[in-house]
Amino acid sequence: MDCIFCKIIRGEIPSSKLYEDENCLAILDINPVAFGHTLVISRRHYPEFLDAPPEAMTEFMKTGYKVIGAVVKGTGAEGYNLLVNNNRCAGQVIPHLHLHVIPRKNGDGLRFEWNPRPYPEGEMEKIAKAIKASLP
Ligand code: AMP
Ligand code: ZN
Repeated sequence: MDCIFCKIIRGEIPSSKLYEDENCLAILDINPVAFGHTLVISRRHYPEFLDAPPEAMTEFMKTGYKVIGAVVKGTGAEGYNLLVNNNRCAGQVIPHLHLHVIPRKNGDGLRFEWNPRPYPEGEMEKIAKAIKASLP
């Protein structure tokens, strides 16, 4: 398959490998937003989060947990962001499930551009109802 992360997993493209096990591979992001920015990549090719069955996500996050701890400790981070982009509109560039681990320091200047805005009258209740009705 012509997927850059599958190629990294198969060893066809070099990477700065930090850890691997049967669930995933952790590498340094080649274009980091902070030094130590790490990608925990699912060994299996799932295009996005909801394509992976819950059991696979559990195993993936078990490994992710280990890697997150190591990134925080190894970089001396004072905080960290965990991020999964899903689909192009959400900023996903590589459609292969991966978790960004971004180590943070006080005053590091890194900004994620949130654009919070209030709900118009009645909209919050409407959306809550739609989400609840969609629960399995
Ligand atoms: P996303 O936007 O969530 O799909 O993130 C993809 C990430 O993969 C970006 O942060 C890229 O910098 C990173 N990336 C792309 N190619 C490579 C590569 N060959 N090795 C390591 N990281 C990569
Ligand atoms: Zn892939």
